[in-house]
Amino acid sequence: MRALFGRLCLLLSFLLGPSVSLRAQLTFEFNYSLDSGFFSGANADRRVHLEAVGSYVSQFLTATTLAAITAGGGNTWTAQFASPSNPSTTHSVTDLAVAANTVVVYVGGAGLGGSVLAQANLPGISVSGNESWSNNTVFKRTEGHSVYTRASVAALSFNSSTNWFFDSTPLANKNFGGQFDFFSVAAHELLHVLGFGDTRSGSGWDRNLFNGAFAGGKSLEEKSNTPFGVPLNSARDHWAASTLSFSTRDGEVQEALMDPDIASGVRKYITTLDLRAMQDIGYPANFTAVPEPAAFGIGAGVISLVWAWRRRRIQS
Ligand SMILES: [Zn+2]
Repeated sequence: MRALFGRLCLLLSFLLGPSVSLRAQLTFEFNYSLDSGFFSGANADRRVHLEAVGSYVSQFLTATTLAAITAGGGNTWTAQFASPSNPSTTHSVTDLAVAANTVVVYVGGAGLGGSVLAQANLPGISVSGNESWSNNTVFKRTEGHSVYTRASVAALSFNSSTNWFFDSTPLANKNFGGQFDFFSVAAHELLHVLGFGDTRSGSGWDRNLFNGAFAGGKSLEEKSNTPFGVPLNSARDHWAASTLSFSTRDGEVQEALMDPDIASGVRKYITTLDLRAMQDIGYPANFTAVPEPAAFGIGAGVISLVWAWRRRRIQS
């Protein structure tokens, strides 16, 4: 059955021309080359936990349309981002090859200080080449008739001083008071990697901001009591603190994953509101995904979102 489906896709692709992207599940490709110990040595087993969180998030995004990024023939690009092991320094990668429907995430640990548990850093990108390469491959992607900024590469730092709780069965209820849940924090940051809270002008997120609130149509369908926009934090890159939605695990009321903070001993799953926002910023989210029990491996505090060119720490 699967083989037949693959053949059909191939045929359709041929008929419609090479510019058609096949929809496929998003993949996070974690790159540990800039890590300095958080995911290596005695901590190498943490990679299994991170990869499992990547799979957890991916299963809600089964129909993405990100083209492969393949430099060459005069087309080049460079991404600059804060180094995950030392966010005060900038790292750049040139002509990184990115597979279709894949986002490359450079990961590491760093002493982030204060109540910051983790931070995602989106890149500053420079590109040179023909228009199709620049506009349609590196900077933007299309979904239906709409055009969105695309995710390609990012950096993700976890606070190396945090007392983390790593859980091999994160779908089961646990008591881990005093520790911070790696699963929840990593999932939160991966949605930032995809553009949740990207306030840069023209981003899929930014286009849905209205008077300091999030006015994406799908999100407003769920939050019908806030017809002019779902309230955000003051930086406009998270839901307002304590925003409630429904867990995708069991439908129970839960604080949204993408509010600005999480307490110790608390686990959050992706909520329906979080997925609605992903739809509004241009991802065909799959609400029927059922998290699979797997060898997952995933933190009162605050999670911050940091862009490459300006650091921002969110506290509430
Ligand atoms: Zn955040």
